[in-house]
Amino acid sequence: MEIREGLTFDDVLLVPKLSKITSRSQTDLRTKLSKNISLNIPLISANMDTVTESAMAVSMARQGGIGIIHRFLTVQEEVNEVLKVKRSGSVMIENPYVINPAKTVKDALRYMDEKGISGLLVVDDDSKLIGILTSRDVIFESEAKLVKDVMTRDVITARPGIEGQEAKEILSKNRIEKLPLVDERGHVKGLITSKDIKNIENYPFASKDKKGRPLVGAAVGVKGDFMDRTEALLEAGADVVVVDIAHGHSENAINTVKHIKKAFPDSEVMAGNVATAGGVEDLIKAGVDAVKVGVGSGSICITRVITGSGVPQLTAILDCAKIGKEYDVPIISDGGIRNSGDATKALAAGSSTVMVGSMFGGTDESPGSTVMKNGKRFKIYRGMASFYASLGRKTRENGTISIEDDLNDYVAEGVEAMVPYKGSVVDIVKQLKGGIRSGLSYCGATTINEMQENAEFVKISSAGFAESQPHDVDVM
Ligand code: 5GP
Repeated sequence: MEIREGLTFDDVLLVPKLSKITSRSQTDLRTKLSKNISLNIPLISANMDTVTESAMAVSMARQGGIGIIHRFLTVQEEVNEVLKVKRSGSVMIENPYVINPAKTVKDALRYMDEKGISGLLVVDDDSKLIGILTSRDVIFESEAKLVKDVMTRDVITARPGIEGQEAKEILSKNRIEKLPLVDERGHVKGLITSKDIKNIENYPFASKDKKGRPLVGAAVGVKGDFMDRTEALLEAGADVVVVDIAHGHSENAINTVKHIKKAFPDSEVMAGNVATAGGVEDLIKAGVDAVKVGVGSGSICITRVITGSGVPQLTAILDCAKIGKEYDVPIISDGGIRNSGDATKALAAGSSTVMVGSMFGGTDESPGSTVMKNGKRFKIYRGMASFYASLGRKTRENGTISIEDDLNDYVAEGVEAMVPYKGSVVDIVKQLKGGIRSGLSYCGATTINEMQENAEFVKISSAGFAESQPHDVDVM
């Protein structure tokens, strides 16, 4: 048996090339996420329960990337996360949340909290707008009062189809935050908010769908409710469905992709994870629009330890990207990114984007609260195939874990860990983007495509690796 060599990021460096670039701003990080979706930066936040729910996905989209909502949620919960992202930065919210005037303030507060919003439109039994309820209306009111007794009745409205600038002028002139759009019969057709207009102005490089709403992806599995889940997520507006399975080069994954593509031919589907050209080709033949590459590369992953299987990430990308290019299907490098150098190498080796877990864990936007250890702040970051993540999923699915469940049956392929609390993910993305831009320049390239054409890797020794790190100094 011939044994091939497998390399990863630390085994290589990119050889510097003649560069005409005088400023990093001349570089362009636009790239393809999948066959039909483009991003302004090549960064995706991982579909993990300690990385991506709506807050992370909103931030990623605002910065030009995308977040993939994880699937360890009930269908309704995952749908809600997608809806929160879609509603966070649209020019116009298409189906604003409404409430009946006969409901109580308590009902309204619960509804607003569940949907993560600060106001509700009040509509009568004929769906006609009769008022608006914002936190200002309820702040000092008894929760037992009825919505109709505390709502604001004089609502300033506009007709559907109003231009953004005109809406902004109405909001500003009347010092209001919400402008419901109603048709000639008084039926609600949409909502424009000052917050959304501000967000659009503040994030000019945001990744958006055709309706101007933030891009978001959502993961599904290969068993149980995956078809219902897919349908509900697409209905909620998910731009890409990610078929998420540890061993993506499997009949399970291939059949799932085929089923989804057959039922929803217009959907954009990404699948993984695989680590070989054969894996990529089989998923492409099943109909995917992008392939996620990385088996055993993740920071919290123990697949290689437990199963002995995997391919070092750089070799995996090189093998997979070759076949992806042949079919013109983008490759995502997933797992193992620890700094902008790793991301640059992954892109230079042929991936169109990189998926990031641990670097985005521990941020304000990642789910979970901070914990203190030895006077320092941390956040939990865990593998989706770790014992506790799986326990959490099982509990959600079955309502409880029974004493009869033999937990010894479960073989974890991921670990539970903590990562230092890092503040906002915006700063991490900024560092990654800056590093990748410089990396492009070192490769004499202005775009990711150009870098892939120019890239020349040199394999380094352990002495070369040591030389690459700060050495012979006390790092402050
Ligand atoms: P990181 O950026 O932390 O190095 O890697 C994140 C990636 O690790 C995820 O996007 C996913 O592909 C992978 N991953 C997440 N949880 C697990 C797990 O429990 N086991 C394995 N094998 N991989 C995982």
